[in-house]
Amino acid sequence: MTQSPDQYLSTRGHAANETFADALLRGIAPDGGLYMPTAWPTLSSLKQTKDADYSVIAREVLTPFVGDSLPEGAVERAVAHLVKGFDHPLVTPLVELESGLFVLELFRGPTAAFKDLAMQLVASLSDEALEASGETLTLLTATSGDTGAAAVRAFAGKKRIKLIVLHPLDRVSPIQRKQMTTVEADNVLNLAVRGDFDDCQRLVKQLLADETLRERGRLSSVNSINWGRLAGQIPYYVSATLQLGQAAHFVVPTGNFGDAFAGIAARKMGLPVAGMTAAVNQNDALARAINEGVYDRRPAVESASVSMDVQAPSNFERLVFEASGRDAAQTRKLFEDFAANGTVTLPDDLCQALTAETRAVSVDEATTAAEIGHAYQAWGRVVCPHTAVALHAARKMDRNGAPVVALSTAHPSKFGGYVESVLGIAPEPAPVIAALGDKPERLSVIDSDYASARDAVGSF
Ligand SMILES: *Cc1c(COP(=O)(O)O)cnc(C)c1O
Repeated sequence: MTQSPDQYLSTRGHAANETFADALLRGIAPDGGLYMPTAWPTLSSLKQTKDADYSVIAREVLTPFVGDSLPEGAVERAVAHLVKGFDHPLVTPLVELESGLFVLELFRGPTAAFKDLAMQLVASLSDEALEASGETLTLLTATSGDTGAAAVRAFAGKKRIKLIVLHPLDRVSPIQRKQMTTVEADNVLNLAVRGDFDDCQRLVKQLLADETLRERGRLSSVNSINWGRLAGQIPYYVSATLQLGQAAHFVVPTGNFGDAFAGIAARKMGLPVAGMTAAVNQNDALARAINEGVYDRRPAVESASVSMDVQAPSNFERLVFEASGRDAAQTRKLFEDFAANGTVTLPDDLCQALTAETRAVSVDEATTAAEIGHAYQAWGRVVCPHTAVALHAARKMDRNGAPVVALSTAHPSKFGGYVESVLGIAPEPAPVIAALGDKPERLSVIDSDYASARDAVGSF
């Protein structure tokens, strides 16, 4: 079988290979696994230059993954559209806080959080793929806030796509909710679920597996399990490294492990990376799996960094697949056991391989609040709680000579209430947030059982 970056296999090994367009439109593989390229492309032609152009980087990163599965020029058009929606010429500027410590600003797009970077690309590329094939698509996504907002803004008004977003009722910030519910687009349905994020994610998985829903056309997900989302997050690791002019240790505030896995993918493509650290909040299933070798499902608890309230991080499967030497049988067994029993013990050799890919640390709520205070006192910088989780881990680590880059995943005003409760001052609103105003909201509240979700989706 030929191995090529534009051919995709499933982490569970029981699905036929697919093109980029099919992996993008399907989301999850038919055997329940996640799509991965059959080979990693190599970053070759990017020069070490300080003024690296994001468009050039993104094109270089994405083109080998897409191959010839989309119309000519699709990647260029998608990247041009993405860059237009950002308010900084570098798109993701790197800011030095003190010697050797940086933040990478990923929040300068349409919803003031990092998910815009991939979502804008995925919306454009999906649209191109559907135009070419003449099909329609229903997209389902579970969100703890930022994914849904980014998706609504990216897909609103697309003619061949309907978007259904499930968020946990009263567990997303008012601004995140408004970013989803104030968009006037008939192709968007917002469902507020009486439950937590993992309930939303479970319902989406069940809906995606429902054969009767497939009669309406293609059915897929925009969660970070979608390979398009992963690929769209690789370019900013390259951009940061080029802005810095040397290899960095990246510290990534982590929920579903999509953002962090994109950094690991960049390293597999040849980007010099000094190290990776996934920083989680008190929902520490990922950190316990990597550090203690036991992957254990517990209910998610609400945290200040609410977009990271995840206890069954979907992209952990991609990490296990890579760390196991791409052993699909082992990956399948592990995640099927986890789904059945809610707990699995990882073999020692797998644990060691996982630790070689990334470190993981958990930061508690009091420390997150204290870090917001420290950032303001030390550097006059107001940061969101997600960024604070990463900054704390970055500041406490042994820097080993390499510069440390904490990914700053949201503008602080997106979580203004919490930040104000810590600092006593409200963050200046990002322009895209000031523009939300008091527009009327559109959403339906449902119970967290499958029948309720199926009814709501069926009548849309
Ligand atoms: C989604 C999100 C994260 C976590 O990203 P993952 O890819 O799920 O690990 C961190 N910070 C913010 C602001 C987010 O919206």
